[in-house]
Amino acid sequence: MTEQMKAIALLSGGLDSRLAVKLVQQQGIEVTALNFVTPFCNCTAKSSCKMEARKASEEFGIALRVVPLFEEFMEVVKRPKHGYGSGMNPCLDCRILMFKMAGEYMRANGASFIVTGEVLGERPMSQRLDAIRIIERASGMAGLIVRPLSARLFEPSIPEQKGWVDRTAFLSISGRSRKPQIKLAEELDIGDYPCPAGGCLLTDKVFAARLRGLLKDHPDPTKNDILLCKVGRHFAGSSGSRIVVGRNEAENLRVEQLCGPGDWLLTAVDWVGPTVLVRGERVNDADLETAAQLTAGYSKGREEPRLDVSCKLVGADTETIKNVSPHESLALKEAISG
Ligand code: SF4
Repeated sequence: MTEQMKAIALLSGGLDSRLAVKLVQQQGIEVTALNFVTPFCNCTAKSSCKMEARKASEEFGIALRVVPLFEEFMEVVKRPKHGYGSGMNPCLDCRILMFKMAGEYMRANGASFIVTGEVLGERPMSQRLDAIRIIERASGMAGLIVRPLSARLFEPSIPEQKGWVDRTAFLSISGRSRKPQIKLAEELDIGDYPCPAGGCLLTDKVFAARLRGLLKDHPDPTKNDILLCKVGRHFAGSSGSRIVVGRNEAENLRVEQLCGPGDWLLTAVDWVGPTVLVRGERVNDADLETAAQLTAGYSKGREEPRLDVSCKLVGADTETIKNVSPHESLALKEAISG
């Protein structure tokens, strides 16, 4: 009896990786999926990469392992050997890390190769031919990555050379148009796939500037610090503290969820308005005054001459009421936005 051939697929849950899994599965290969989750995934509670990957793995009847990345990923974000893309996205180093980890998982689980939904030329930084070669070499996975969507544009991989998979059943898609993938999804009866617009916040210039600011003051941020970067409007306090202003009810709740001992939480007294968090090692009275003005300025009481703002130190029984002018915040919004 011939041994069952096994492969590990990098499954983001997006259309490309779904198609790639299906094309390999159709050849009788047993596929196990890996889904890497970074704190920079642009996910919401209603739609996340993890959920999409789970849905896809259930649809295909394959095992899924979700791999959260933090410490090792932050090293890559802070010091990428191959530089950044348009924001703070270290795509080459990120892919090298993921392929290395996928390779370790492959060897530990008796699989023979890796499958990805990469399409040549689809992403400007990591899916150029030269970048793909660098990633393969640096991850130690040269020849062991099968890309069913673009396979015929590459030299045959080892699995293709050895006949473990049939290269003639693979495709030669390239570029940024998604039309070929959408057509293929219809042919393969893959209907319910998420919009490809999600993605990684590191490519967003505004988020990248915010992250740079955080890393300048806190070179070793916690995961909570990073998650806080994804919420609200951000301002810089004079002591190096960060002031985070929730923009709606959902963000106010998130700000509250992320606060911890030592943080200050501010809300307007008697007015609907934002939940505001102040975080820093040396939060001083000037920071709280600024944060209180912002709290008042973004509240429904912003037309009042003055209003009260409650400032609570999380984890301690301390509450201060500051009486501030909401109008002071107008100049602040511009000056200390960060
Ligand atoms: S966009 Fe983000 S997740 Fe994707 S390769 Fe680049 S750094 Fe990694």
